[in-house]
Amino acid sequence: MTTINRDRLVDHFIQLVKVDSESRNEKQIGELLAEQLGELGFSVHKLPVPEEVSNGFNLYAKLDGAIEDSIVLSCHMDTVTPGIGIEPIIEDGVIRSKGNTILGGDDKSGIAAIMEAVRCIQAENLQHKTIELAFTVHEEGGLFGSQHFDMSYIRSDKAIVLDTGGPIGTIVNAAPGQQKIVAVIKGRPAHAGLAPEEGISAIQVAADAINQMKLLRIDEETTANIGIVQGGNATNIVMPELKIVAEARSLNGDKLDAQVTHMIDTFQSVAEKHGAEVEINSTRAYNAFVIADDHPHITAVKSAFEAIGANPYTKGTGGGSDANNFNAKGLTTVNISTGMAKVHTTEEFIAIDDMVKVTEFVKHYLTH
Ligand SMILES: [Zn+2]
Repeated sequence: MTTINRDRLVDHFIQLVKVDSESRNEKQIGELLAEQLGELGFSVHKLPVPEEVSNGFNLYAKLDGAIEDSIVLSCHMDTVTPGIGIEPIIEDGVIRSKGNTILGGDDKSGIAAIMEAVRCIQAENLQHKTIELAFTVHEEGGLFGSQHFDMSYIRSDKAIVLDTGGPIGTIVNAAPGQQKIVAVIKGRPAHAGLAPEEGISAIQVAADAINQMKLLRIDEETTANIGIVQGGNATNIVMPELKIVAEARSLNGDKLDAQVTHMIDTFQSVAEKHGAEVEINSTRAYNAFVIADDHPHITAVKSAFEAIGANPYTKGTGGGSDANNFNAKGLTTVNISTGMAKVHTTEEFIAIDDMVKVTEFVKHYLTH
């Protein structure tokens, strides 16, 4: 019993992905969505963010409902690169890009689903929950929009982010926190041929430290990686300085702290042993979250999926999303699949049937 207007949903999605909105350049898509949400009867607020985050704004929009419940639905408005001049192609019920750009279904498939669900609800004159929308800028590469989201507007205590892939019914209820560690090891330069014993080799210090470090898979919940190493100018100079950029992630905050302490301590003690110095800059990119399977929010999301004939299941993920920041700000937030696939590549695609299904989910959730 689907009443979703498939053509209208696809047309809106195509319209949205054709608006360029690579991270930091969300003004145009923000203005368009603000206008469209206004036409649907939402009260719309453009929430400022720091200039370095975006040329646009986060969007908060609210539509009061007669059902005594409320929910925040959230998507990000930005895309990764290459995302300029996207030309979507529809083939055998699947939407993809021409092949020279990403599609932008990440995350405009979520926005299109939410707005089509609202259009159906209004066309059928159905009672619904109070709907709060949080559309963010600059999610890709740092979750900056949600980090700067003005939470004073939010009334509900729970949220659904529509920003992951997998079968419709996928509910992400756990995601790791992440720490970024930048270590600059400072040795001492010397002529590598004439007087190498006068030097302290930054790369040898780093190698010694890394050799003693627990890295990659630490345990079921925890990972760590050294991703970038930069240093050196010439073979005849004992390397005076080396920069290392590393990360650690864990679903468990204590384990994350322990791993970060271990990595920093190892850099420091090994540098000291070699008579070198190390400067460390350690920052929390975002915090972990875990929502219990029997939490009422999960139960309600699951039963809405069951009602539309999907098979809901919860799972943890290794990546971050706006759900990390919203959970850290006190909003109980899950992240569900819109059916987006091969995201962040020029082969990105989405099946129209999945878009319809997730729209049915939103419609059902909002009206029951
Ligand atoms: Zn995304």
